[in-house]
Amino acid sequence: MSQTALIYHPDFELHNTGNSHPEKRNRSKIIYDYIKKSAISHELAWFEPGPIDLRWVKKNHSIDYINYVKNTCLLGDNTIDHGDTRVCPKTFEIACLAASSAIKGVDTVMNDNCQNAFCCCRPPGHHALHSSAMGFCFFNNIAIAARYAQEKYALNKILIIDWDVHHGNGTQASFYNDPSVFFFSAHQYPFYPGSGSSEEKGVGHGMGYTLNVPMPAGASIEHYRRAFNLSLTPTAYKFRPDLILISAGFDAHRNDPLATISLKNEDFGELTYLVKDIAEHFCHGRIVSVLEGGYNLSALPRSVYQHINALKH
Ligand SMILES: [Zn+2]
Repeated sequence: MSQTALIYHPDFELHNTGNSHPEKRNRSKIIYDYIKKSAISHELAWFEPGPIDLRWVKKNHSIDYINYVKNTCLLGDNTIDHGDTRVCPKTFEIACLAASSAIKGVDTVMNDNCQNAFCCCRPPGHHALHSSAMGFCFFNNIAIAARYAQEKYALNKILIIDWDVHHGNGTQASFYNDPSVFFFSAHQYPFYPGSGSSEEKGVGHGMGYTLNVPMPAGASIEHYRRAFNLSLTPTAYKFRPDLILISAGFDAHRNDPLATISLKNEDFGELTYLVKDIAEHFCHGRIVSVLEGGYNLSALPRSVYQHINALKH
């Protein structure tokens, strides 16, 4: 049995954002090709997601919004969300496939095929809100996976760790009043999308179950080490998660064109080991990691390699 699953589908390329958009159609393929050719390829278990049952998408999105995305695709190439988020005729199908791959990741680790999984999917999801697309995202893959894990496998407590350089505002909104899903985010701040101050901690029963650690421009692995060791780890020990999901963005890399954080390829391996320590303590090492951002196409596969290499150890 391989410890680590890699979940990928060649159709991820069919969501065509055009040549000038940073969320390029070949992002997932570049990662896939790099890992496939690498020395760790034969140590991974490779899976393809199938079509999703829309009832899981409806756990996090309104029916009207799901139909809106579907119908917008029928109109052909287009942009929504103030021009940021591009739609093509295949977008609805491929956004569903990305959500499906996150669900497949949950199945893979919960059925004990693998201890952890990396979902090499696109479009990303963590900015997607209940009833709107945002920041290149249509359906919130990680939020859908969390709801799926709770319902299908009767898990009580899910910890979502979001280290994408942008605040995961969509995911935060999904669980802001919900104490069963703890949302931790380390992100550049102030920055897009504007939310994610340390004052945002949840509401109602969810108060105290959102933890934002803003990072200053130029932050290095030292900042992240501190955030993970001093904020995330003690919080996780109190929360005692049954499963950990990672919103794994790689746009905090020093060469990323969309942000100004200073992480190096190997730093994503170090963050992964810190998360693994928590997972091994509380949830049999179970981690499902889902690709979010990362827009330097040379740094991206190399950073993901460090992440997967740490997952499989
Ligand atoms: Zn991002």
